Amino acid sequence: MPQDPTATSDVAVIGGGVIGLAVAWRAAQRGLSVCVLERGELGAGASHVAAGMLAAVTEADAGELALLELGLRSARAWPDFAARLSDAAGADPGLRSSGALVVARDRDEAEALERELALRIELGLDVRRLLPSAARRLEPALAPTLRLALDVPGDHCADPRALVLALAEAARRAGVTLRTGCAVQRVQHRGGHVTGAGLAGGEVVRAARVVVAAGAWSGAIAGLPRIPLRPVKGQILRLRDPAGAGLLERIVRFEGGYLVPRGDGRYVLGATMEERGFDTTVTAGGIYELLRDAGELVPGVHELVIEEMAAGLRPATPDNAPLLGRAAELGGLHWATGHHRNGILLAPVTAELVVDGLLDGGADVPAAFAAARFAGVPA
Ligand SMILES: Cc1cc2nc3c(=O)[nH]c(=O)nc-3n(C[C@H](O)[C@H](O)[C@H](O)COP(=O)(O)OP(=O)(O)OC[C@H]3O[C@@H](n4cnc5c(N)ncnc54)[C@H](O)[C@@H]3O)c2cc1C
Repeated sequence: MPQDPTATSDVAVIGGGVIGLAVAWRAAQRGLSVCVLERGELGAGASHVAAGMLAAVTEADAGELALLELGLRSARAWPDFAARLSDAAGADPGLRSSGALVVARDRDEAEALERELALRIELGLDVRRLLPSAARRLEPALAPTLRLALDVPGDHCADPRALVLALAEAARRAGVTLRTGCAVQRVQHRGGHVTGAGLAGGEVVRAARVVVAAGAWSGAIAGLPRIPLRPVKGQILRLRDPAGAGLLERIVRFEGGYLVPRGDGRYVLGATMEERGFDTTVTAGGIYELLRDAGELVPGVHELVIEEMAAGLRPATPDNAPLLGRAAELGGLHWATGHHRNGILLAPVTAELVVDGLLDGGADVPAAFAAARFAGVPA
């Protein structure tokens, strides 16, 4: 790989969300000098809003088998990633081995759940069918009107805000330069190879390699090959039980949403899926539907205190899988974006694959995640 002798960092990472920070931390641990350029505050994008489910099994889709494999690999990596991160940062990312229940309210939903169960059994995934009485023994807060449930013991969760704090601290301690308030306008290149990142004020941060981890905004940076990335809006509530922990132990998922317990009386209730461009307004209709559906299944939700309502933008590609690794069109350019609904789950595996690609002689990412799969697809 041609190196720029005047470069100030080996790697400039654009975007300080979970993905950019995870890549920066692991790259520094593996001997590279790294600078993160974040236009706002660290973790202020989708990572600030995310619920934090590590939901490889519940998110499985028959048409997305490569993504399922990637998710399962990252789920397996999570315990070790969290332990190493806690050691490195002195702060832990809130990993909880909660397991998840997927529940149905009526006959139509129960039939859909049977199909989900059959698919997962066919794929060899660990899922169990539960009668309503058995589900209510596990989670007594579930409504008696429940029709059917699936037990998914291997889907857990982390706390994305704690994850951002831990990653930022670990990155700092590993020698990463973290610059906030630095909007990258353009990726600079010469002779077919990147030379750095041009900031809004005119400064150019020189680097031999540039990682694009700018979430839903990754396609808006000048000087990059075009990628088909779009924002998918999600509204979410953060709730707190004044009575403390205990309403729910497991993640509860239902048609149109989920409740994620943090284990200390706090809950995340999410999330809408809306195609509204870069709009992050919170709407009465979005919040009403989430509360209505969750309250039908877990009536105790109505007693919880609303601490926050927010909306974030998931970075989505046409096949819902991320864009990872070297860009064919431009030497030194690496993608780490497009994680859509699963950026928290996929942070460990993304960091490993992208950092492998940053190191000389490192392996290429699997073709299912390379940007080349979208060659010819309009941006
Ligand atoms: C409501 C909701 C719920 C979710 N729940 C889950 C979940 O339960 N589990 C899960 O795995 N995933 C979940 N996700 C998805 C997850 O949040 C994302 O996939 C993940 O946060 C993407 O991380 P990122 O670092 O790529 O993007 P972001 O967190 O959006 O970070 C990108 C960063 O880049 C910065 N940036 C943008 N442009 C520039 C620029 N030009 N220059 C410098 N900086 C720039 C932004 O300010 C931002 O901080 C959820 C998302 C939403 C919206």
